[in-house]
Amino acid sequence: MPLSAVEGQPRALEALRRALQHQRLHHAYLFAGPEGVGKGLAAQGLAEALLCTAPLEDGDACGACSACRRSAGRQHPDLHVVERRTKGNTDERERQIKIDQVRALQRALSFKSYEGARRVVLIIEPEKMNPATANALLKTLEEPGPDTHFVLVTAEPHRLLPTVISRCQRVRFQPLDRALVARKLAELADLEPGAAHLLAGLAEGSIGKGLTLQGSALLEQRQGIIGRIDDPDGPRRVPQLLDYAETLARPDRRAGLPLVFHLLRTWYRDILLVQEGFGDEALVHRDLAEQIRRRAPALSGPAVLDRLTLLNETEYAIFERMANARLSMESLVLRLAGAVEG
Ligand SMILES: [Zn+2]
Repeated sequence: MPLSAVEGQPRALEALRRALQHQRLHHAYLFAGPEGVGKGLAAQGLAEALLCTAPLEDGDACGACSACRRSAGRQHPDLHVVERRTKGNTDERERQIKIDQVRALQRALSFKSYEGARRVVLIIEPEKMNPATANALLKTLEEPGPDTHFVLVTAEPHRLLPTVISRCQRVRFQPLDRALVARKLAELADLEPGAAHLLAGLAEGSIGKGLTLQGSALLEQRQGIIGRIDDPDGPRRVPQLLDYAETLARPDRRAGLPLVFHLLRTWYRDILLVQEGFGDEALVHRDLAEQIRRRAPALSGPAVLDRLTLLNETEYAIFERMANARLSMESLVLRLAGAVEG
């Protein structure tokens, strides 16, 4: 797809289009930004624009020539893509990019380009390399050969070697506008506007994240999860709260825990928005607006902020500091329900 088909990233695309138009391209770009906001599509678009034999006036790919069609199908001999291999016939990918992939790239780049013009190398998730592989990549970046353009695509630039970063021109990609995410999700996953709105609110500007959340069983239990934890009757239901905390913390449910935190976080943020006088359209849980409006007057602003902090701290303790999940969740639910003081 041409660059013009990438939505919601006007600043990043403007910089690229200007470079293409004036033929002032860096030899290596680092496309950095959250998952699922169009970095990969833009990298593909830039590759097509660079390899196109009949580019448009603004430098974008024509989308119709033989080079464009082959680039789009990743069949162009001067387009090299390095990414984690898939395992067997599954969609699951290896944990890392392997050194033989970078060596194969080096070999390919040591020959002339097939069609006598530019070569483009896309490196998807360059942070997923061990140090030896990362150093091999660095060497390739340092000695690229003529007319070779690299695009590194990452959501975790802080995990790259500083020497790799310093070789690249960084292009920043932002979280997408919520309305755009909702529209794309409705389109891609054939969703009702209400469902798309909820997913877009939870997805934090990432179409990719929205698609991953779609159909999650936890999401279907959303009202139950929130209702059992943020229960105005909590102080009188301590045994039930503790039971529920234990269930949520079970090892077989651990993978779902980040979504539970996220649901609660967005729930309390919605309460804050209502307290600040925002309309239903601003809420993530718009379909539960009535419930949120009933709950909001019972909590003070600082009490809601405390709960948000508590959620972040508990999630960090469990997933980063390997704290005991059951004890952490028990303490969390009791405090969220106001059954004990912080
Ligand atoms: Zn073309």
